Amino acid sequence: MSLPEFKLLRPRNLADAVGQLAQHAGSIRILAGGTDLLPSMRQKLFDSQYLLDIRHLAELKGIRPQPDGCVEIGALTALTTIAHSDFLRQHYPVLPEAAKTVASPVLRNMGTIGGNICLDTRCLWYNQSFQWRKSCGFCIKKDGDLCHVAPGGMKCWAAFSGDTPPALLCLNADIEIASPAGVRRVKLSDFYTGDGVIHRKLQLNELVTRVFLPASSSGYRGVYRKLRIRGSIDYPLAGVAIVLKRSNGHIEDARIGITAVNPAPLLVKGATELLKGKSLTEDLAEAVGDLAAQTAKPLTTSALTPEYRREMIRVFTKRALIAAAGD
Ligand SMILES: Cc1cc2nc3c(=O)[nH]c(=O)nc-3n(C[C@H](O)[C@H](O)[C@H](O)COP(=O)(O)OP(=O)(O)OC[C@H]3O[C@@H](n4cnc5c(N)ncnc54)[C@H](O)[C@@H]3O)c2cc1C
Repeated sequence: MSLPEFKLLRPRNLADAVGQLAQHAGSIRILAGGTDLLPSMRQKLFDSQYLLDIRHLAELKGIRPQPDGCVEIGALTALTTIAHSDFLRQHYPVLPEAAKTVASPVLRNMGTIGGNICLDTRCLWYNQSFQWRKSCGFCIKKDGDLCHVAPGGMKCWAAFSGDTPPALLCLNADIEIASPAGVRRVKLSDFYTGDGVIHRKLQLNELVTRVFLPASSSGYRGVYRKLRIRGSIDYPLAGVAIVLKRSNGHIEDARIGITAVNPAPLLVKGATELLKGKSLTEDLAEAVGDLAAQTAKPLTTSALTPEYRREMIRVFTKRALIAAAGD
């Protein structure tokens, strides 16, 4: 489980980073906190010739409220900073709630929001050592040509298992992507492909630089619920984020995002329409929970059964709604 050999490149600034990415496109990977990348390299899941160490780029760190009411978060902002931000807790509480459940305190100190958004997808047949994968059979995500969890299929079902993206989807977040051609801004909901192999729409010479939360998403109540085996450290095996705004005892607006049960984090379609203008009852929470469970398509990519994970999406959605809508 030793690290393969690589050259570490330390760009002086963002322009330099983009230049180095373009120069070595195809044989370089971005190293932010390294909390996911380095263990994966030990498992020989990536063997890049170069690592672009962007950790020290101060221009990509920090939470900056903007004059127009939106907030900009640098891609290298540590998850601990997000979890403890008074500003975010007051205006966008679902994001720090989700951030504080990632991994463990040490990993949250190292791990960044950009790394969490760009996180690789996970599967029992993929996140294993080289020897394990060789013995049990390689898969379409890495080195092989078949899927062990959906035999006969050519789609990879490895699950996207980041905690903050469902919260960011609920907040209608945009991300900024830099490349030699300049910067582009995309909706986070358009960033993921839904395929476990190439799961992000990010070219080899691009990096995520900033996250934007719109002013219109400020002031919603937020709840995040997560299923994992060890409460102190593990990746989610099912996760539900909810934002909800009430007025006069009715739900004015609400959005629900789910994670770890599909190859992409997803907003639950139809949930907003079902909830808008109503006061929350047990039956309504149940109906929205059913909708969320229908959106979840977990396969046997983790230690818990797909049936249990889908059921927990239903249960968490119901509980989170009741918590968010309550007094
Ligand atoms: C034991 C353990 C438990 C964990 N538990 C959780 C958990 O509960 N929830 C969870 O969400 N995560 C978990 N993680 C994964 C990880 O710690 C977090 O997802 C973290 O946010 C990743 O950020 P990073 O900066 O360390 O990313 P890195 O490891 O540096 O990068 C991750 C990936 O994103 C790419 N990348 C990073 N930054 C950028 C950027 N700015 N632009 C483009 N690409 C980029 C990298 O090239 C790499 O492919 C866990 C990890 C470990 C080891």
